Amino acid sequence: MPDPTAARQVMVDSQLRDRGISDPRVLDAMLRVPRHRFVPEPYRSQAYEDHPLPIGDDQTISQPYIVAIMLESLQLAPTDKVLEVGTGSGYVTALLAELAQQVFSIERHPALVEGACEVLAELGYSNARIFTGDGALGLPAYAPFDAILVSAAAPDLPSVLLAQLSDSGRMIVPVGASDSQQLQFVRAVGGRQVVSLREHVRFVPLVLNHE
Ligand code: SAH
Repeated sequence: MPDPTAARQVMVDSQLRDRGISDPRVLDAMLRVPRHRFVPEPYRSQAYEDHPLPIGDDQTISQPYIVAIMLESLQLAPTDKVLEVGTGSGYVTALLAELAQQVFSIERHPALVEGACEVLAELGYSNARIFTGDGALGLPAYAPFDAILVSAAAPDLPSVLLAQLSDSGRMIVPVGASDSQQLQFVRAVGGRQVVSLREHVRFVPLVLNHE
């Protein structure tokens, strides 16, 4: 593949900055994290292209622009404790580990957990813990979280996860039917959780425990 560092710079400039992503911490993190390391060999040459890619178990690594929108919305502070639902390849986990203090991530496919843990360890991320399990339940033992990022589409705003946010917590989650969803951003305003509707997106479904 072409020089990954150069490819990353082009990705950040043309797919992110030119489309309005402006948070310098998000842009820097996306410049640093080697996305190609999280992409399976057969697709590695496409790692910096403007679309999602397969990662095995019928799942996908999200398009860089959508990842950037989600990260920017959360306005992470270096002291934040974050929950990620749907670790997948571990790419977003690495970005969260760059932007926050502690990352807890949960994934239902053991093979994906294994792959993500391996790459994150190789890259030296020691502030991210990955759990195998049902992310729809969150991680109550480690709550509350300053931010929650959900990488799979929920049919409704997941109240179980909302309950695991801190008083000033923020959550970004794709909500809707399996073929099209809208990102919903939740934040606390005057003690109430306020929802705003964002971009239309297409994510793999969040598998619910009662199914
Ligand atoms: N951020 C990831 C996206 C992975 S796709 C990346 O960039 O690679 C979404 C992931 O959510 C899939 O890996 C899928 O297995 C996982 N997932 C779906 N429902 C889940 C659930 N209930 N609990 C945990 N993980 C779930």
